[in-house]
Amino acid sequence: MKKQTLVVIGGVAAGMSAAAKAKRENPDLLVKVYERGQHVAYGQCGLPYYLAGYLDQADETVVRTPQAFREQGVEVNLFHEALSLDPAAKTVKIQNRLKAVVETVAYDFLVIATGADPVTPKLPGIHLKGVSSLKTIPDAETINRFLVDSSVEQVVLVGGGYINAEMAEAAIARGKKLRLIQRPSQVLNHMDEPFGKAAGLELEKHGILLHLRETVESLEGDGRVNTVITDQSRYPADLVIFALGIRPNTDWLKSSGLSMMQNGAIRVNAYGRTNLDHIYAAGDCASVYHRVMKKETYLPLGTTANKQGRLAGAAIAGNPQPFGGIVGTSIVKVMDKTFGKTGLSAKEAQAEGLSFKTVTVNGHTHAGSYPGSKEMTLQLVYESYTRRLLGAQLMGPVEGAKRLDVLTLAIHNEMTVDDLALSDLSYAPPYATVWDVVQVAANAAK
Ligand code: FAD
Repeated sequence: MKKQTLVVIGGVAAGMSAAAKAKRENPDLLVKVYERGQHVAYGQCGLPYYLAGYLDQADETVVRTPQAFREQGVEVNLFHEALSLDPAAKTVKIQNRLKAVVETVAYDFLVIATGADPVTPKLPGIHLKGVSSLKTIPDAETINRFLVDSSVEQVVLVGGGYINAEMAEAAIARGKKLRLIQRPSQVLNHMDEPFGKAAGLELEKHGILLHLRETVESLEGDGRVNTVITDQSRYPADLVIFALGIRPNTDWLKSSGLSMMQNGAIRVNAYGRTNLDHIYAAGDCASVYHRVMKKETYLPLGTTANKQGRLAGAAIAGNPQPFGGIVGTSIVKVMDKTFGKTGLSAKEAQAEGLSFKTVTVNGHTHAGSYPGSKEMTLQLVYESYTRRLLGAQLMGPVEGAKRLDVLTLAIHNEMTVDDLALSDLSYAPPYATVWDVVQVAANAAK
């Protein structure tokens, strides 16, 4: 019998998870990965910490090499870019960038895992040297050349989401002077205002100049950037990093008949299947089901990309398992503090038209009888009538961060604040207070 072929487009988190899982579960499948770049299976999450100097090489973020995949029987083709899809013929046109030839590749199953690229505004000067975004290993290597150059003093971060919050730590670790410019009135705009404000104060405490409600209009320089011009002023700049969000890499699929969300994310069901037969999508180029909002959403994160890719691979290998969806959990270290969010923020609950209440408490990472206890703040969002937990946000020291995962599970399993208050959480003085901060908040929920 002719062997079936799985073609995977895109080779980072979702694509390589799908390829490896499908091959493991069905060794008879021919698995071919096509990646337009030069690396596969690396953790973009580690790139800011390479830039801080905590890793020697950017490619230390590679989790598994192409050679290791080939030894598993997965064919890996680097520098190959998919150009178009013909679902009727079950083929993909792929450009081999090394040989500048276009190949037509046939599939029995297709996984689209092309991720998302940073949004780059079309501003005058955007192509000057020293203006970059951070996504790939080559991006990180380019930025690093500037960060290790002692003549580079002024770094401007445009956008105050989690990537630039992490870049702030990196640039400060490299001894640079920093300013952060953005249009929204708070950094970490996905969180409620008190948390965004606290994150801003944490940046300012480390000497970073914040320019909120300000818009970058152009960049100037003589080949290399030297000035950022906004609607309010001009600022010196030797390195400018834009992090203004991302867009799914699905333009090449526009005429394929695939159903997409408004932003271009491919709609998938719980098994990663699209509306077209034998075609799956996973990761940052795909939608995901949100368990609290009870609808599809776009929330691109590495954690989800790995799961969606793995489940698509399993389904193709003949072992389908549905993905129950996300609750929207994310965490970021802003200088010395951790900011985490799971479920809905108050502003999201409001936008969803839910009837909800919030409660905010300050508690401690562990008992005062053991050295090193630190304060942390926790906010719960819960439904007024059912008292079901809808969301939680925390800020505090790194040691308190994993409270977020307790809350994630509580939201995932639709627990009420009352269930949470009486849960059998662990206690001994080095680890928690006798009523853990999570339970202190749940008890305070009236
Ligand atoms: P991608 O990683 O975008 O990979 C898609 C691949 O497809 C790319 O290599 C691209 O070259 C290739 N491709 C695109 N178009 C084509 C084409 N037409 N033909 C062939 N190949 C193509 N997430 C977290 O959960 N936690 C974190 O702490 C975190 N930190 C991050 C820090 C940074 C700096 C960045 C940039 C991201 C971070 N993320 C984090 C997000 C996480 O890295 C992504 O969600 C994850 O990489 C998505 O994986 P993916 O495989 O769906 O897409």
